[in-house]
Amino acid sequence: MTTNQNPVEMFADAPVPFTVTDAGDKAATNVHPFPAIKPGHRLVPALIGNRKSAQVAYIECPNWCGDDHVTGPAALEDITHTSRSEDVHISSFLRRDDALLMFATIEQDPAAKNPLLRAAHVAVEDGDAPHYFTPDMAEALADDLIGFASQLRHLARTARLHNTSQGDSDPDMNEALRRVREGGVA
Ligand SMILES: [Zn+2]
Repeated sequence: MTTNQNPVEMFADAPVPFTVTDAGDKAATNVHPFPAIKPGHRLVPALIGNRKSAQVAYIECPNWCGDDHVTGPAALEDITHTSRSEDVHISSFLRRDDALLMFATIEQDPAAKNPLLRAAHVAVEDGDAPHYFTPDMAEALADDLIGFASQLRHLARTARLHNTSQGDSDPDMNEALRRVREGGVA
């Protein structure tokens, strides 16, 4: 027969799971862990302040960012991150200047009020103010541009068929084509 024991007495002899000693307290206060850096980020130097007073501080910067944050002083809330750009240049037979048609970058504005600007987003510029896209919107634009590229091929085929059907009888056109093929201006 077992006797009824008081629960406190039952556990009185159980081993104590851990003890906090003076030495343990001292060790804990001497630990200075680095703050965890967010995944996909690294610490980079940034010149914080203004033209009269600025100092270098280390900030979290996304791995895709191509900005040099020490080129000019900036207030902490004005720091944004931008990737290197993907560019589309255009050169045609009357304007062979290889002009920049449009370019796209990843951007992030950590201090923005708009949560869509605070998150990483895609900016597309065509010379005017940039257009901003969420990742989903940028994918939809990419699909539209792939469709446009497909139609561009279709237009090229139709124009070529038209020219072929007319034969190479126009001496002025032949001369213009020859100059284009040699890299000159028609
Ligand atoms: Zn950055």
